[in-house]
Formats: sequence, C-alpha cells, structure tokens
Amino acid sequence: MAKKCEGHAVGIDLGTTYSCVAVWQQQHSRAEIIPNDQGNRTTPSYVAFTHNQRLIGDAAKNQAAINSTNTVFDAKRMIGRKFADPNIQKDKVLWPFKVISGANGEPIVSVKYKDQERRLCPEEISAMVLTKMRETAEAYLDSPVEYAVITVPAYFSDSQRKATRDAGAIAGLTVMRLINEPTAAAIAYGLDKRAGNCSAERNVLIFDLGGGTFDVTLLTIKDKLFEVKAACGNTHLGGEDFDDRMLKYFIEEFEKKNKVDISGDSRALRRLRNECERAKRTLSSSIDAFIDIDCLFKGIDFSSSITQAKFEELNKDLFEECIEIVKECVTNAGIDKRCIHEVVLVGGSSRIPKVQQLLQEFFQGKNLFKALNPDEAVAYGAALQAALLSEGFKNVPNVVVCDVTPLSLGICEKVDIMSIEIPRNSSIPIKKKTKYGTVVDNQSFARVFVYEGERARASDNNLLGRFVLSGIPPAPRGHPIMICFNIDEDGILNVSAEEETTGKSNEITITNDKGRMSAKEIARLIQEAKIYEAEDREFLEKDGAMNDLDDYVYKMRKALEDIEMDKEKIGDAIVKAKSLLDDHKEQHKKDVFEKNMKDLELYSESLNANLKNMILSYTIF
Ligand code: AMP
Repeated sequence: MAKKCEGHAVGIDLGTTYSCVAVWQQQHSRAEIIPNDQGNRTTPSYVAFTHNQRLIGDAAKNQAAINSTNTVFDAKRMIGRKFADPNIQKDKVLWPFKVISGANGEPIVSVKYKDQERRLCPEEISAMVLTKMRETAEAYLDSPVEYAVITVPAYFSDSQRKATRDAGAIAGLTVMRLINEPTAAAIAYGLDKRAGNCSAERNVLIFDLGGGTFDVTLLTIKDKLFEVKAACGNTHLGGEDFDDRMLKYFIEEFEKKNKVDISGDSRALRRLRNECERAKRTLSSSIDAFIDIDCLFKGIDFSSSITQAKFEELNKDLFEECIEIVKECVTNAGIDKRCIHEVVLVGGSSRIPKVQQLLQEFFQGKNLFKALNPDEAVAYGAALQAALLSEGFKNVPNVVVCDVTPLSLGICEKVDIMSIEIPRNSSIPIKKKTKYGTVVDNQSFARVFVYEGERARASDNNLLGRFVLSGIPPAPRGHPIMICFNIDEDGILNVSAEEETTGKSNEITITNDKGRMSAKEIARLIQEAKIYEAEDREFLEKDGAMNDLDDYVYKMRKALEDIEMDKEKIGDAIVKAKSLLDDHKEQHKKDVFEKNMKDLELYSESLNANLKNMILSYTIF
C-alpha cells in the first residue's frame, strides 16, 4: 500500500564498504544517483571520532591511517549478530578499532571521542552512515527527506534486518521497506531492458559480490512481474575478505624481509590495508600492482608488488565458494543453467576478472551482463521502489516483486529439534498448516518457539519469538494442535496455534516493523544521534568562524602593505587574533572568534575609514 509521504522518498544502498543514495526524478522518469559533498556518487560507510569532531564518509576514510583505532567501518558485518558469533571473533583480529561484548552479548565498538571513551552499537554506526546519506539527499534536493527504502543482502537474517530498520529509525528515517539488494538490482536491470523493449519472459541471475556480502538471486522477469525463484549467499564474503588475504600475505613478506611483525600496529595495518584495496582494484585491469609505503613500521619503508596470478591464488577458495553458491542457487530454483538468459553483475567485487572467468565458465561461456553500474544498480532499484511506495509519484514504471524467504522457518519440536514449516526459497506470500501432537498425557498448555535458520538444532538458529497456547482439554499425549505459518507480501510472518475441539488459539506476529531494540532504547539513541549532529554542527560553525578570522587577519596584513601603513600600530590586534587561532582555538567557542573578528573590523575602521572595505574586497583563492 502506498504510504503518504511528504517530500522526497529515497533509495539507500547501505553497503559494507560504500553506500549510495538515489531518488526517483519524476520529470526525467528515471532514478538519479545523488553525489555527496565531495562530488562522489558513493560514500564510504566509515565513521571516525577525533578529539574535537565526528566525521562520516570520505572525511572519515581519508584520515583512517592516522586515527585507525577511532575510525569505524564494517558495521554491516556486526549488525544483528552476537559478539560471540565466530565471524565477529574472526574479524575482530583485523579490525583496528576495539570491539567488546555488551550487556546482552551484542558487539559494542569502543572509541575515543573528545578525549573520552564512547561505546556504540553497530546500529548507531550504521545510523550515522544513513544520516550522512539522508543529508546528502537533502542538500541535493534542497528539502527534508524523511522516507527511505533501504536495501539489505537477500541472505540477511531476521535479526540483521530488524537491526538495519532500527538504524534507519535512529537516523531519523521512516523506513518504508527493506528490500533485498539483488532484487533492487534486478529492478534496475528490468528497467534497462524495458527501455530496450524486451518484454519476453527471462530467467535472470543476479550475481552481487560487494565489499562484505555475497548474494545470488535467480528471478523470472516478465513485463512488470519480478518473481524470485531462489536466493542464496553468504553475508560474510566479499571484497574485504580478498583485501584481508592480501594483507596477510604482505604482513608475512614484511616479517620475512625485516624480521618484525607489524600485525599489532593498527596504524601500519590500516595503511597497508588501504594499499591492498588499491592494488586489488588495479589488478582488475592490470597483470600486476605495486605497493609503496614510506615508514610503514619503525621507520622501515615497504615496497613490493603482487601479480594478478598471485592474488587469484590467495583467494582461490573464496572465488570457488562464490561459484558453489551460484550452483546452489540454480539447483534450488530448479532451473537448468542453460535456460538462464542473463547473468547480471552487481557489486564492486564483480569486476574481478577471475571471478568473471569462473562465472562465465560455469555458464558455459555465456556473456555476462555488465551494462549496469555495479556500484549504483542497487540504489537505483531502491529509489524506484521508494517512489512506488509513495503517494504523489506518477508515471513510475510499475513493478511487482514476488520475493522468497531467504531462510527456513520452523518451530522447536521435542528437545531442541528444528522442525521446518516453511523451507527457504519458498515464494511469499505463503501459508502452511501442520498438526502437532501434545507430548505428555493431560498436557494443559503448549509453548511455541519460532525459529529461522538452517541448523538441525533449534537453539543454533535464530529465535524470532515465542508464545503459549493454554487451556488444552485433558487428553492422552498426541492430542492434535494445529500450527499455522503465514507470511504476507511484506514478508510479515504470523504464527498461530489452535486446539480445534475447543477453538482455543493464540498467535504471534513477527513483523519487520518490530525492532530488535525496545522503543525506549531507540528513543534514547535517536536523542544521542541528535546530540552528535548538534556537536557536528557546532564544530563546523566554529571552524567557519575560525576560518573567517584567519582570512581577515591575512587580508588585513595585505591591506596594510598596500597602503603602506605603519604596521606597528596595528600589530597588537593581529598578534591577539593569531594567538587565539594558533594557541587557544580548542578552549574557545564560535562566538569568541566572531567577537574577535568584529573587534578587528572596528579597529581597522578606526585606523582608516577605507581600510575595512579594502580588506573585504580582497579575494583569496
Ligand atoms: P560495493 O559493496 O558493491 O560498493 O563494493 C565495494 C567493494 O568492491 C570493495 O571491496 C571494493 O574494493 C571492491 N571493488 C571496487 N572496484 C573494484 C575493482 N575494480 N576491482 C576489484 N574490486 C573492486
């Protein structure tokens, strides 16, 4: 159903390493990717904290090497997971920032901000990136943006989805819908094809290999209907894993050459990792790449090189895993791989030649579809979905997406056994009823635990919710209880239990709207986000006032030279301003700089009636 939204609704691709925002432009009948304040169409999903400010996006990434312990990235790899999750334990070793366990076993990032320790949950970090994307869109559209469609990997679990929704709420966004990244890319592909007047039914495989996640989705597209047949993936496989392999390789090489281990030095690791990422990109179009870093560790420079062949060898198993997942997806969809009309590449890492070669080989030499911009396609599709969900947009190409459940859903039967009710890759909407029997004589109530996941033991899966059916009449064990699973078009799951002779029933609705965090917790974090925003604004305003003063002092000096005025006369005022700028800038607020500027202006006027105008007329480039 269309939501009433005032102003623009945007599509946001919240990536592990880069994020992208797009908006549907009605007058041009297409989505437009919105560039950020640096003119870049994607923004690093990085947040940094310094002794006097918070930075997000390019500014955060650019200073990562000199402030590595307080520069946070990879929130998407933490969101919705537990601290004890083996993936987090593995990543933690290479993250330069500190991650600890929170009160409920959730990962918490610990940083230093304004010389004090700050603890942040992954939802808060993602919320900061989303805030940056919202502000990017607001600046470009020159109007407030409240509504958004955010994309998530198709293979994200319910708790990862809910945590992403919470992040949107903390960023002040009303999340109209979360859509799967490959589905969003398929929409972009579908539009592109429609523009080419191709309306025959097509089986399309979306191969989405990004910075941190890998998703494969097989869809059938016919006119406006996008029907997902199967989705597979790994939420922990992507470009960063390839960077890690190269990083480890160079750490070993450095140790061999210099007999010192740099793995404990977060600054050196950050600098080397940046170079590895750059080299990896180079290797997508060149057979070798060079690394050259001055004073990497203990004053030792590091120069080396890596060939494309070596890079491929280091990542052989990971690249092969990608192809295994493609195979699994095709098998699950029950479609012969020869019947796949198009293999569409999405995600920055899909540019890697070896990945393309293996994929092409798997599809027996088929040409891959590379016409979509792999960094932007997901945001593009999300923007169209946002427009479709909004009122007030006309002439938006109508697409109907029928998605599938990415993970199996079931209940805990007997002792810790997962009994699957809806297997993964089932098309939604879907309804399934099963009769279960009571386990003891005269059982008066039954507890129903609802899980998602593929593990045989229920406790190894993700507990979505629980409820109790009471008032079961006395009966021998095996008395039937009807359990019904129902998922509607929005992916909202409802589970009910009924004792049919009495009609007694109970149910639980597990919706995407229900946050992983409590409403109180979200309200607290929204409040904190506002404080961060106010602090950022205050910092920028103070920075502006300092720059104005610095500028004025410079021009004043120049004006004095031009009119050959006695410099001694004005010296004190300049010395005072310079000392404020050079030695005392930390302790003063914006108004002190503004006041100093006013004093200088008045003083210059008192010296010479024309001096102030002259100063203001100079331009500094
Ligand atoms: P995405 O999440 O789709 O923005 O993808 C980001 C990932 O793609 C990062 O790990 C980048 O290092 C990687 N990437 C971007 N361009 C290239 C390239 N030309 N070759 C290899 N990897 C790339």
